[in-house]
Amino acid sequence: MRILNAIYLAENGTKTTIELRDVTFSLYEDKLKGNMFCPSENCPARISFSSGRKAHFRTWRMDKHANDCIYQFDRIPVLKGRSSTESINVEIPYSRRQSALQEAFRIMNLSDEEKEESLGRQSPLRPREKERAIAGTKRSVTGIQMVLFEGEKYDEELIKRQSYILKRAVDEIKSQDIGTIRLIMGQVIEVKEEGQTAEITIENNDRKLSIVFEEAFTADRLNSSYLSKFWAIERLLNDSKIVLFAGIGDVRKKTDRSRIELVIYRGDDFRVNNKDMSVLAADYSRADL
Ligand SMILES: [Zn+2]
Repeated sequence: MRILNAIYLAENGTKTTIELRDVTFSLYEDKLKGNMFCPSENCPARISFSSGRKAHFRTWRMDKHANDCIYQFDRIPVLKGRSSTESINVEIPYSRRQSALQEAFRIMNLSDEEKEESLGRQSPLRPREKERAIAGTKRSVTGIQMVLFEGEKYDEELIKRQSYILKRAVDEIKSQDIGTIRLIMGQVIEVKEEGQTAEITIENNDRKLSIVFEEAFTADRLNSSYLSKFWAIERLLNDSKIVLFAGIGDVRKKTDRSRIELVIYRGDDFRVNNKDMSVLAADYSRADL
């Protein structure tokens, strides 16, 4: 979403609304840089300014908007290609990820006939694929110009492309999916608690995949309500036998392991039986009282 104005916080604490048309490159560099904030109430995200023919405001590189902010985009680190360990940041809106998880649960509950039917019904939507392919080609040809002269348009296209999350059941994962962000679906067969997190094994049609949570997960302040709560999934598995898992993360294949892994970075990027794990744990704790 386009940010049309920003709040300038002066050294003396006064706040002024800054309109895009009032900002010049030198005003920004001399005074505003680092001191402009998101216009939404109580949102801590800083705003930066890109000059040029299509000048625009954008979210400061790594800043996060408040949960209820209309400009909110969550950032999740992604592996850039298969061999690189360098992380880049991709913006996928929180709401988009939550609706993808919800949709995954619906898909997992469809019978085979219904699945086929629903795939058939999707075909009129295919032009979207075409559109994306064309956008991709255009960018690779005129990519440099677009960055220089049409920064805003380029950003919007990039976000649109990246916020589309492809869903795969465990047995549908192909080599092209490795090194990319995917939503992976399967049935939980094992939960192995390891410290504050766990390694979860899911499967579909006899193909298995490990869900892993690494230091980045444990270290992220936003995940604190998910740490040491993985017992809840084990308990759900005991109680209901069938636990459907959907999670968004990096699909990865380590050379020393035969099994493909899904690395998850955020506690709200996965659900079990369509439920957030921290909510599930809280429900259990309440029931135990
Ligand atoms: Zn904001």
